[in-house]
Amino acid sequence: MNVVVTPSAAPGLQNSAVPDIGSIGVIGAGQMGNGIAHVCALAGLTVVLADVKAEALEKAMATMGRNMDRQVNRGTIGAEDKMLAMSHITTTTDYAAFSDCDMVIECATEKEEVKDAIFKALLPNLKSSCLLASNTSSISITRLAAKTDRPAKFIGMHFMNPVPVMKLVEIIRGIATDEPTFQAVQALAGKLAKVTAVSEDFPAFIVNRVLVPMINEAIYALYEGVGSVVAIDTSMKLGANHPMGPLELADFIGLDTCLSIMQVLYEGLSDSKYRPCPLLVKYVEAGWLGRKTNRGFYDYMQTPPRPTR
Ligand code: NAD
Repeated sequence: MNVVVTPSAAPGLQNSAVPDIGSIGVIGAGQMGNGIAHVCALAGLTVVLADVKAEALEKAMATMGRNMDRQVNRGTIGAEDKMLAMSHITTTTDYAAFSDCDMVIECATEKEEVKDAIFKALLPNLKSSCLLASNTSSISITRLAAKTDRPAKFIGMHFMNPVPVMKLVEIIRGIATDEPTFQAVQALAGKLAKVTAVSEDFPAFIVNRVLVPMINEAIYALYEGVGSVVAIDTSMKLGANHPMGPLELADFIGLDTCLSIMQVLYEGLSDSKYRPCPLLVKYVEAGWLGRKTNRGFYDYMQTPPRPTR
């Protein structure tokens, strides 16, 4: 790992060694993991992408290829940039492949026990200087970090979906996160051409603290019969100028992820105003998770997608 000293470090921190991140591990090859691998590879980083499921890795490589083709067709990258970026990515189901990584970003399923198990299995494979980040949408960074051997080198790096398109990355410091780790992650976000917003470590941070209760409220409006799926989405698109309706957006995010975020808000803030709508729970129990399973508030096997109620 190269070590650089950032001239922009705060007074008193000028001598802090800020790690330069050249190789990155990404755990979880779902919609977020493949987006993060995509932008990192295009920025010239070496990427190791892991998942428990080999088929998720194959799907992620195909998705990245297609998404980069779209960028080539739009002229935002050249065909040779795509070739080079794809050659920077290797896939694995074995954490031993992470031994040279300068940083690992965890973006597996939004369940704390899943993330805890991943870090436990991952840690023995890492060099001691390796930084850790979680892309969690809502879970406490301090709590995830405390269960690792390096809470000072652990941070929240919350990308938005779709990663190649969305400009924002929320940066969340755990209580123990040190300044060089914070500076290194800010520098990485800059390399990826992202804009950062710093959030305190409270349930769901900033974006999802505001966004997901709004989505949950839209599901309550559907549940109580205030409006149909189409009426609710049309109202928010044309009446509030949102680019996507809240139910369409819920399907895009993943209904399991939306439910997990509401549960974290409900339990973390002990406030009944965050109770997840029973209809959201029912959809998740049915395995109707939105776009990723082809069915949520809309059925994506139909063209155009047809509301499911
Ligand atoms: P997803 O369901 O698309 O992908 C999750 C991936 O994690 C799957 O491929 C799954 O096989 C894999 N996985 C599960 N257990 C694993 C394990 N033990 N080891 C390795 N891989 C494992 O989910 P997603 O939407 O990509 O979300 C991933 C993370 O990103 C979550 O923490 C979520 O909250 C966060 N996030 C999601 C969004 C969004 O809009 N979907 C936005 C920002 C952040």
